[in-house]
Amino acid sequence: MNVATFLSKNTKNHTSNNSHVPPIILSSSFEFQDVDQSIAVFDEDYPSYVYSRYGNPAIDAVAQKLAKLATFGDEAMDAVALITSSGMSAIHVLLQAVLKPGDAVVIQPDLYGGTLELFHQLLQPLGITTIAHKMEDLNSLEATFKQHKNIRGIYFESPTNPLLRCVDLTAVQALAKQFGITTMVDNTFATSLSQQPLLLGIDFVVHSTTKYLSGHGFMTGGAIIGRDASFMLDQVWKILKLGGATPSPFDAWLLGQGMRTMELRFDKQCRNALELAQFLSEHKDVAQLRYPGLDTHPQHALAKTQMKKFGGIVTVEFKTAELAKRFMNRTKLMRIAPTLGDMDTLLLHPASSSHLRMPEAERNAIGITDGLVRISCGIENLEDLKQDVQDSLG
Ligand SMILES: *Cc1c(COP(=O)(O)O)cnc(C)c1O
Repeated sequence: MNVATFLSKNTKNHTSNNSHVPPIILSSSFEFQDVDQSIAVFDEDYPSYVYSRYGNPAIDAVAQKLAKLATFGDEAMDAVALITSSGMSAIHVLLQAVLKPGDAVVIQPDLYGGTLELFHQLLQPLGITTIAHKMEDLNSLEATFKQHKNIRGIYFESPTNPLLRCVDLTAVQALAKQFGITTMVDNTFATSLSQQPLLLGIDFVVHSTTKYLSGHGFMTGGAIIGRDASFMLDQVWKILKLGGATPSPFDAWLLGQGMRTMELRFDKQCRNALELAQFLSEHKDVAQLRYPGLDTHPQHALAKTQMKKFGGIVTVEFKTAELAKRFMNRTKLMRIAPTLGDMDTLLLHPASSSHLRMPEAERNAIGITDGLVRISCGIENLEDLKQDVQDSLG
């Protein structure tokens, strides 16, 4: 059964009017027939919509789809998904639910830039300390867990942005579990179609649904999915609702519509990425090519064990900054835009955009050199894309 069929069979179309495409209820509140019904609803013994910050049919329908997709293959797992107004608000809500003042959290040094700033600028002043640590070295990670008794959580991405480093999800979660540490993974790059951290024992997954899940570059959104249903519906929900991180029903509806073609898009994006990666890796201007699906990737063997597909992102390091710039400026089909997972192939020069504010030495130390270009492959015809790449190279 493919994902589209699975979701269609296992999630309800929340409508009462039989429309094939579900309607969007753009109403901030829902009416009561009388005061007694209002009292019953506010007393929570009458399941009904009340106010769209608490819930709306479009929001609930797509959250249910995300939970099912995250656990596709293990129908016994009762995961809960909650959706938010952006990937950042999903991350913020989850971290606020898991971490308390005095806690420490182990993070990757090269997390998504916004997430790093969130840790440093919003959580640090609240008394939540971060310990940056490479996730590859498990012995040293264990020593860190032993040394700091206040480590409450570990937060990382796999593959990472933009260098596509992979983390052994099973090994890290097993180690964290021994120390009672909560595991949180940003699964935006891989998506649930390729990688399902919850099935490997990870406690919480977040997504920026702005990217592959909605897939058309027309909205921003985020999702939090957890295996502990009561923690999700109690702690996480409380912070989401009171902090007002709720998405608009319209964006939730766009996400639901985007998800219907996600598997087709992602298949094509992954195929385009593999072909472009092979093509580019042979070019004389290229110093290094990173793609988890190529056996030249240092963690290709690991990627094969935990990813079903290797994703739509290819990172190419040109020999010089000038070659990178020339490539980006010459393209006709590919576009320069700071997002990913879109239907169009998009280019980003991390050193002068997402990592511009990072000091050069620090940037080079984590591998973000001036020659690096991130390519988020779209769904274009492969031959057209290859031609554009060829014409843009020297
Ligand atoms: C884009 C992105 C985010 C932030 O999501 P927004 O929807 O922009 O708030 C977080 N993590 C990763 C890996 C991303 O690519």
